[in-house]
Amino acid sequence: MERCRRLLKQHGIKQTQQRLQIFHELAGRSDHPSAEEVYHSVRQRIPALALDTVYRTLWLMIDLGLVSTLGPSREPMRFDANMDLHHHFICTACGMARDFYSAEYNQLAAPRAARALGQVSRVQVGLLGLCAKCSGPADH
Ligand SMILES: [Zn+2]
Ligand SMILES: [Zn+2]
Repeated sequence: MERCRRLLKQHGIKQTQQRLQIFHELAGRSDHPSAEEVYHSVRQRIPALALDTVYRTLWLMIDLGLVSTLGPSREPMRFDANMDLHHHFICTACGMARDFYSAEYNQLAAPRAARALGQVSRVQVGLLGLCAKCSGPADH
């Protein structure tokens, strides 16, 4: 939250209740919500909130380096307030996305094929599979 306030201030952007609440919501979740999910939660506290505002705020926060997005998937874009170096496990059945940390993955060097495309600033690994719930015994 401090990071958010500081960055908004640094860039001369007004710290509106809506912006702070949107960041607060995102920072408090580890399930990488979509903009719509953020909208539905924050609207319970700020009924006047518009979905459009949520989108604009999220883009702004990406520009400020406050949040990032998860790589492309079949789902609508999802947002991540965890800016520590981490990796993702994504369930291909239900779309669950969770962070995990791995010292090993942190050490991975970018392959030449990737470096040929541009300058790599960090390596973030996304693993696809079935989460424990989806791979567990079917209950039907
Ligand atoms: Zn799943
Ligand atoms: Zn993440």
